[in-house]
Amino acid sequence: MYFGTIKKNDIANGPGVRVNLFVSGCTHHCEECFNAETWNFKYGEEYTEAHTKEILDALLPDYVAGMTFLGGEPMEPENRGTILDISRKIKQLYPDKTIWIYSGYLTEELFARAGIWSAECVPSAEDVPRNRILPDYSPAPDHEALAELINLTDVIVDGEFMKDKKNLRLKFRGSENQRIVDVKKTIAQGKIVLADFKDRQ
Ligand code: SF4
Repeated sequence: MYFGTIKKNDIANGPGVRVNLFVSGCTHHCEECFNAETWNFKYGEEYTEAHTKEILDALLPDYVAGMTFLGGEPMEPENRGTILDISRKIKQLYPDKTIWIYSGYLTEELFARAGIWSAECVPSAEDVPRNRILPDYSPAPDHEALAELINLTDVIVDGEFMKDKKNLRLKFRGSENQRIVDVKKTIAQGKIVLADFKDRQ
């Protein structure tokens, strides 16, 4: 996996002070993407174990609330193995710190691809608003790893960026179609449960 930046002490991408990893590679190609250079899977620097140590060290202070993965697309099949490895280490060392993932994929699609939800329990592909491609609900070749990653994750901010739904007042998201999904409650209740964050007035 390649990445563009590790940002420490960020307060824009999730609650509290957070460490951010901007991964490289994204196939969504949203119009007016804020970070189009990261569509290239080889953008930036190759990710190594030394970067995981840097992240774990940055998460150490009590005032750091957690980790946010964004990009690029952390949930691309090419990236999620590395994101899983980092997430395992974060939760081993810091079980109380939260993990957020920004993904252009919808939660329903990620859950179906991971085998957490069956394809019958998610909306038909034609009913899901998308600006580029229809979702794929078939089990992914790495479905067990994807399920483990989802289980380690606290929040997924999901959906592609849609420029006609852009709204600067939204908290932690760029366009109104995007959702801040509480992953633990969504798994427990078997339906999408949104995390409660007030938008700016
Ligand atoms: S999913 Fe994110 S990184 Fe990918 S094109 Fe859309 S806005 Fe850009």
